[in-house]
Amino acid sequence: MNFEHCIRCTICVENCPVFRVNPEFPGPKQSGPDSQRFRMTGEKSVDSWVSLCCQCKRCEVACPYGVNPAEIILNAQIKYAGEHMRSPVAIMFANNYYLGTLGSLAAPIANRIAATGIAKKFFNLAGISTYMPFPSFDFISMNKGRRRLGKGQRKVVFFYGCFLNFNRPDIGKKIRDMLISMDLEVVMPSQVCCGLPALGNGQIDLARKFASKNAAVFGEYINKGYDLIYSCTSCGLTLTHDYPGILGIASGKKIAENSYNVNEYILRLIEENHIAPEFREVRRKIAYHVPCHLRALGIGYPAVRLFSKIPGLDFKVLDDNCCGLSGSYGFKKKNQATALKIGAQAAAAVKKSNPEAVVADCGACRMQLSYMSGIPALDPSEIITESLVIK
Ligand code: SF4
Ligand code: SF4
Ligand code: SF4
Repeated sequence: MNFEHCIRCTICVENCPVFRVNPEFPGPKQSGPDSQRFRMTGEKSVDSWVSLCCQCKRCEVACPYGVNPAEIILNAQIKYAGEHMRSPVAIMFANNYYLGTLGSLAAPIANRIAATGIAKKFFNLAGISTYMPFPSFDFISMNKGRRRLGKGQRKVVFFYGCFLNFNRPDIGKKIRDMLISMDLEVVMPSQVCCGLPALGNGQIDLARKFASKNAAVFGEYINKGYDLIYSCTSCGLTLTHDYPGILGIASGKKIAENSYNVNEYILRLIEENHIAPEFREVRRKIAYHVPCHLRALGIGYPAVRLFSKIPGLDFKVLDDNCCGLSGSYGFKKKNQATALKIGAQAAAAVKKSNPEAVVADCGACRMQLSYMSGIPALDPSEIITESLVIK
């Protein structure tokens, strides 16, 4: 922890979406390095407001002195959660992988029940926000079906994450098939949640349990020469930053060094002459919302580099705003007003560019921005596969 390096310039504060809209949150400087000076290991946490931070990491990207206010706050959130009674809603969201497994198994019934008025009343009583519909579950999750597909010298493991697994396997399969078409062997071994929802809800032991399971599987594949591919940028940030970092996973460094965002990987395949694709014309006008966690990954905007190769594609890059949902953050009733205020700014930026679709690499961003702008949302792969022709 490097709170001593903070020179109190407040650049992080200017970049904090929660501070901008919620006066109860003192901002990254005060919640992070300033308060850390007074947090004693043996003392019980009293700063309940740390839970108002949505962990978008914008403060860390902005800090010119390499301080990690979001990580300092995350540690404070975990300490606070460990010392106080957990709310049912935090327990529920931390265990989203198990809920997703159940929801997917009982998909048609679970979706119908979740949409009823009684279910909404129950959710509200339990502290869950219902301002927008929950994503519906799909019975045919990514977990089902063949686990090894395609042939090729080059081999990849696909980490599809919970959202594509339980809610949008159609997008997951599109990405999988796109990778197969690139002369790659694609393996989708048994995998669990990356651990981010558990970490974000203060349950570090549960997050470590998920991470250890994944790391054991992926580590073996990496040893055999496979690269690890992820699509959701929040999963990617967890794999590359939290596995070797706060979660202290033994093979975390190896996982971080061998993990690639899917679009970053396609660009790499092109640069290394593994593929020489043609890009067909796509006459569409889109707004590309840059997820906060893609910014935090520090890999640039690979989807944008691919979009710029597509003839006819009219796209506007929007990277000034967080969508406000931040995984389960906005689904908590206590954060609803904050999530909506942040989201309103991002949705206004989308609407201003008057696109036919808003595109984002994060399922949560897509849900929030589509709901708030009334404009359909797409994953970048849905645009890229429309154009890409592998010869
Ligand atoms: S992680 Fe995001 S919400 Fe939390 S303090 Fe930093 S900028 Fe603010
Ligand atoms: S954490 Fe970084 S950006 Fe924030 S006040 Fe300190 S030095 Fe400035
Ligand atoms: S939901 Fe998307 S934009 Fe919002 S905090 Fe998460 S990654 Fe960032």
